[in-house]
Amino acid sequence: MSNSYIDSVYEQVLTRNPGEKEFHQAVHEVLESLEPVVERHPEYEEVALLERLVEPERQVIFRVPWVDDHGRVQINRAYRVQFNSALGPYKGGLRFHPSVNRGIIKFLGFEQIFKNALTGLGIGGGKGGSDFDPHGKSDNEVMRFCQSFMTELSRHIGESTDVPAGDIGVGGREIGYMFGQYKRLANAYEAGVLTGKGVGWGGSLARTEATGYGLVMFTERMLTTRQQSFDGQRVVVSGSGNVAIYAIQKAQELGATVVACSDSAGYVVDEDGLDLDLIREIKELRRGRISEYASAKPSARYVVGGSIWDVPCTVALPSATQNELNLLDAKTLVKNGVVAVAEGANMPTEPDATDFLKENGVLFGPGKAANAGGVATSALEMQQNARRDQWTFDHTAERLQQIMDSIHDRCAETADDYDHPGDYVFGANVAGFTQVADAMLAQGII
Ligand code: NDP
Repeated sequence: MSNSYIDSVYEQVLTRNPGEKEFHQAVHEVLESLEPVVERHPEYEEVALLERLVEPERQVIFRVPWVDDHGRVQINRAYRVQFNSALGPYKGGLRFHPSVNRGIIKFLGFEQIFKNALTGLGIGGGKGGSDFDPHGKSDNEVMRFCQSFMTELSRHIGESTDVPAGDIGVGGREIGYMFGQYKRLANAYEAGVLTGKGVGWGGSLARTEATGYGLVMFTERMLTTRQQSFDGQRVVVSGSGNVAIYAIQKAQELGATVVACSDSAGYVVDEDGLDLDLIREIKELRRGRISEYASAKPSARYVVGGSIWDVPCTVALPSATQNELNLLDAKTLVKNGVVAVAEGANMPTEPDATDFLKENGVLFGPGKAANAGGVATSALEMQQNARRDQWTFDHTAERLQQIMDSIHDRCAETADDYDHPGDYVFGANVAGFTQVADAMLAQGII
């Protein structure tokens, strides 16, 4: 990076947070975009704004003891990183996955600051989770873990303080168990303390669908800038969880053929177009593996090893996890004629792969813009909770559409303003940052 202020901030991040490589990567990507902004705004350096931005306001690490079905005591480690509250209460999901560590939660929390700013809905950035693996656990084990986890987390959250939601490994079941325990501890029905709740008890219609739907809405608007649409596109979506399933549904609704999806063990290709009902039955009802799809469907094949990005497509939607699309994958995608890549997951594309796609004229939607529909609809859930109201599915989906269009346009306009036309990575970083920075300036040295 060529700006000395930004360089020194980044050096400090490396020194102060050793070994947190995902956090370093996320900070680097944002700081890289900010050079022209700090040049335009020397006042940021005077108040050490970037130094404050990269240091979480609060980080909590705690032990989660629970008893498994065999009566054995298990111990997990859990985190909540409350990164930045300049725009509102901390907001961001909880991830339960064995790979969770402090660096991963910090990268996710840092990204969340800018994503939440882009929604325009008055929410700060935070993230949390645990190295607990829900795969293969009984419902009762998951419940006991969630109750123990919430017993400590409850001291740090609240509807005006910090409002967690789901992420990898945390869906409706886990949110239910955590909400039940919070309610018991608080002796209050504080609906707005968690989002992603069930629709019958404070949840918002369209929240389950929101991240995947929003991803496709954002991508559709990017395609429109090239006089294209989803209609007739050949799409590959990685993952087969919450984000992937509803991205597949929306893309199909808009006329695309979605030919492949995956889980951590392998991927399936179905040239007839994926049968979404079957995927939902396997993943949502049975909590099964994607390999079961190929066993049930003669037109499909299951591939272990290799990369899902080897499957030719014109639109790629990485929606599983961080760093799942590398430079080699990007080269394959370009060779196969990809037109757009948009990130359903957080930071799924490695930095050199992102550069390669952009250099080759591929429309590239970064996660902090393209997958912001989930947190945006969580903020709509908070609005409904505050008013003890419930909106219809169509009304909520319409709001989501407006928000995704507005995020797209803000990113595009900001990129134009700084002479980076069509660069959504730059536009998202700078538009999100500017809103947070202005609020931090106004609120003094805190
Ligand atoms: P889910 O737990 O519902 O699904 C995750 C999917 O990704 C599963 O198919 C899982 O496979 C796969 N996966 C997870 N880890 C890995 C890995 N290390 N390697 C390969 N595949 C993996 O999570 P979500 O759909 O909610 O989240 C997916 C991504 O979207 C994450 O990056 C998350 O941060 C991001 N996101 C989610 C939002 C939401 O509203 N849920 C909002 C914004 C972003 P397996 O079952 O085999 O582990």
